[in-house]
Amino acid sequence: MSEQVEEFQTYMVVVAHPDDAEFGAAGTMATLTAAGKKVVIVQVTSGDKGSGDPDDAPQAVAARRESEEREAARRLGVAEVIFLREPDSEVLPDVRLRERIVRLIRTHKPDVVITHDAFRPYALHPDHRAVGLVTTDSCYPAARDPLNFPQHLRDGLETHKTAELWFFGAEVPDRYIDITPVFENKVQALLAHVSQVGEEGPFRERLRERAAEVAEGQEFELAEAFKAVVFRR
Ligand SMILES: [Zn+2]
Repeated sequence: MSEQVEEFQTYMVVVAHPDDAEFGAAGTMATLTAAGKKVVIVQVTSGDKGSGDPDDAPQAVAARRESEEREAARRLGVAEVIFLREPDSEVLPDVRLRERIVRLIRTHKPDVVITHDAFRPYALHPDHRAVGLVTTDSCYPAARDPLNFPQHLRDGLETHKTAELWFFGAEVPDRYIDITPVFENKVQALLAHVSQVGEEGPFRERLRERAAEVAEGQEFELAEAFKAVVFRR
């Protein structure tokens, strides 16, 4: 890990659906927890529409996917998974949701927040766009400024400045994490999402090819990449 990453202690990963955090950043999370860093995952929806079977009950789908997410997080050494249980495919980047995310930022005080890139052009799932946007707006300036959601301060929380925001799935990444040593951890975390991933062998191969593509031009074999926004330095 770079020295820049070394200085940070607490990471919050905010995603739309169970498995998004693992696709985007499982290798990074495994690397961080192995280095003794604290990682918290915030799951905005529980993926209750993530089934191809029209007879599936959304509540049952959500329960299955929450338990898959807990297992994936356990395999990565993630300290905590928080489920906000917003409705799948209906997430809006509004002030109501911003308040919920800001409360979590003020509670856990992450140095780095990792989320979807809402600014990537075209073909973005609406929940990915909404979660990326509302998370960005929550970090800056909402969590920082005391007149935003002052009820949090009355509840004993403090304002918080996030140092960096990292977007996965970015069109123009500028931060690369070497996941070569932990690649199998990423595979195992994703395989915990039994209802979402296909056959293990071809799945592992596709993931490896993708991680190798991302690492092109780097000095390591397999990577995850992010666009980093630095708020203070
Ligand atoms: Zn998703």
